[in-house]
Amino acid sequence: MSRRRKPDWLKMQPPSGREFTGIKQTLRDHDLHTVCEEANCPNLGECWSGNNSESGGTATFMLMGDQCTRNCGFCDVDTGGGQPLDPDEPANVASAVAEIGLDYVVLTSVDRDDLEGQGAAHFAQTIREIKERDPSILVEVLIPDFRGEEDLIRKIIDAEPDVIAHNVETVERLQQPVRDPRAGYEQSLAVLEQVERESDIYTKTSIMLGVGEYDHEVYQTLSDLREADVDVVTLGQYLQPSRTHLDVETYVHPAKFDTWRRVAEEELDFLYCASGPMVRSSYKAGELFVDAVVR
Ligand code: SF4
Ligand code: SF4
Repeated sequence: MSRRRKPDWLKMQPPSGREFTGIKQTLRDHDLHTVCEEANCPNLGECWSGNNSESGGTATFMLMGDQCTRNCGFCDVDTGGGQPLDPDEPANVASAVAEIGLDYVVLTSVDRDDLEGQGAAHFAQTIREIKERDPSILVEVLIPDFRGEEDLIRKIIDAEPDVIAHNVETVERLQQPVRDPRAGYEQSLAVLEQVERESDIYTKTSIMLGVGEYDHEVYQTLSDLREADVDVVTLGQYLQPSRTHLDVETYVHPAKFDTWRRVAEEELDFLYCASGPMVRSSYKAGELFVDAVVR
């Protein structure tokens, strides 16, 4: 059990506002899940209220159900599996995106090790449905490792999203117990390398701080990611979702997050780096991507 008191810089903004209520209603109407809710994201109030987006709100859709076949020590998503895929989900997500009026969409999914093809075709179909309705919508996908199976990762590449993200989550030494034993540092790097090797799609990854990592290990991880040609990195504070989850080892000061951002952008030459206590993979994803790439 973690006994550390949360510092003041981690105070959350409670969800409110018209956009918040509207997004919630649209999601319910289409029977959709978001990682914002399932993972109890601390930015939900800000993202759903539209305070960080000109397009009136950001949400990360979670595909393939709300139960994951894996069990990572930090994650608040329920462990399970075996639910059939909803064949209407790709079209429903595309409709919800249009209704909410998003111009930058983030899609992610639970891991479905139980399914034939681990759901890669379903994920790819959702990208296609969104792009077919409106090719100007930018689509970022945060994908599972698909156990490193290159033909499954290629299905995602072939659907041509604008950004493919896959999270290494932490430094090499702490992969377990932070991640499920089926995940791994080398495997995650290989996923990102394949995307770089086989396409011009931007790649992105995320590291949680505060789980017991040392500074030299964070630096090594950033270097390994650059070696793999990864374009974008985000760093955020791990927050313990419940007392049964992994303990928080440290609350990293905002100044240190800023140092990591400078190291990533100025020394290691990432395209950009979002780094801060409340930063998550999809936090301000659209704004930062458009600033760095489109403008
Ligand atoms: Fe959702 Fe991402 Fe915003 Fe969190 S940071 S509320 S997961 S869009
Ligand atoms: Fe959570 Fe791990 Fe499943 Fe991802 S793979 S949804 S982090 S339990």
